[in-house]
Amino acid sequence: MNIAVIGTGYVGLVAGSCFAESGNDVICVDSDQDKIKALSKGQTPIYEPGLPELVQRNLAQGRLGFTTDLAAAVKKSFVLFIAVGTPQVGGEIDLTAVRKVASEIGRSMKEFKVIVMKSTVPVGMTEQIRDVIRAETDQPFDVVSNPEFMKEGTAIEDFMKPDRVILGVEDERAAELVRELYAPFVRTGSPVLITDVRTAEMTKYASNAYLATRVSFMNEIANLCESSGADVDVVRRGMGLDRRIGPSFLFPGVGFGGSCFPKDVEALIATGRRQEEPLRILEAVARVNAYQRVRFLERIVTHFDGDVAGKRVAVWGLAFKPRTNDMREAPAIDIIEGLLEGGTTVVAYDPEAMEEARKIFGSRVEFAGSDYECVAGADALLLITEWQAFRNPNFDRMKNEMRQATVFDGRNVYDPKNMQEMGFTYYGIGRK
Ligand code: NAD
Repeated sequence: MNIAVIGTGYVGLVAGSCFAESGNDVICVDSDQDKIKALSKGQTPIYEPGLPELVQRNLAQGRLGFTTDLAAAVKKSFVLFIAVGTPQVGGEIDLTAVRKVASEIGRSMKEFKVIVMKSTVPVGMTEQIRDVIRAETDQPFDVVSNPEFMKEGTAIEDFMKPDRVILGVEDERAAELVRELYAPFVRTGSPVLITDVRTAEMTKYASNAYLATRVSFMNEIANLCESSGADVDVVRRGMGLDRRIGPSFLFPGVGFGGSCFPKDVEALIATGRRQEEPLRILEAVARVNAYQRVRFLERIVTHFDGDVAGKRVAVWGLAFKPRTNDMREAPAIDIIEGLLEGGTTVVAYDPEAMEEARKIFGSRVEFAGSDYECVAGADALLLITEWQAFRNPNFDRMKNEMRQATVFDGRNVYDPKNMQEMGFTYYGIGRK
């Protein structure tokens, strides 16, 4: 099938490459000329494991192309996926890019098209976008809401082997067409749930909001464990063994970040307020998440007797989670900003997110060439992102390199007892 994916970011590029990999002819569109130029040469602008190989292979085999020319892509393609960004501005979702793309699609359409909303948009927005397109064209078209559930870091696997595919449709004909596109990815029996457009949109928000709720819930339990003398790591495991609960998203830490959870939680809260159905649990989820970063920072300040000025603090991990270079809403940003404000020298290292971090901090932060270079002469190490490479370091070497052997483990990666035995002053989250 001829497909266009409009918006070639984390979602669009992964979706486009995976659809090409399953034999479709895919053209990825983006308004960012530099991005399109790089992608046309097979250079992937984001870090996502397995993505460069997928892009290069499908580019070489002629099934994947890149352009800034939306009108040409619309002309050539039967199914059009909208995957542009929907950032948050003052608690509300900014739909400028989605609306712009919709008008352009409407103006470029010369025959029937299926237009699939893959960007996360608030309930009711896909219908509004349908009206934007309708205002520009007399041609027939169907709209489908097809929210994306992939996780950065495992995006390709998630896309190729989804737990479920949700299709919100107004017309069964469109559902069948899009279902066909997903058929290669659901052969092992993952369900394709076909529903109405608003229910599909709500399912996306409810899923992310629920996962965020689990994280904030565990963060509060962890904080309570600290004052109760309980170990949250055992509590977490004990809870997760209950089949009604399950083990995922029960890891306490410095809070969730990224381009989705914080934004989707805020957007759902805003929807609730607008409709006079306040989402009290989610309001607390957002508050707890913000507090978790502050609490971590306060612990560092307390350790240094209330004064972090002149201290040298090493930070391992900057991306909002491992296996991505995405720094949107990353907890590391707030924590580092807090330390800089207090007069601390911050030296940071991340296996993939250094370039993104430089855009945020410039020369205010020192960037180390390796994890050990990062800790050299440090008064403390903060582990913020649990990259695999940080899980089992050479602790003796670390201790020798550091001025003070103090570790603030924001992800509960290390064993408190071992750390103590090795001579570290260790702080975890919710652990004895
Ligand atoms: P992104 O910022 O990485 O990519 C968006 C792309 O759209 C950018 O390359 C940008 O240049 C392009 N763009 C903006 N305006 C455009 C226009 N007028 N014409 C053409 N291209 C334009 O965003 P993302 O992370 O891929 O997210 C896209 C959507 O998917 C969002 O709604 C997001 O909430 C949702 N989503 C993201 C994830 C994720 O893990 N990143 C997961 C599920 C859903």
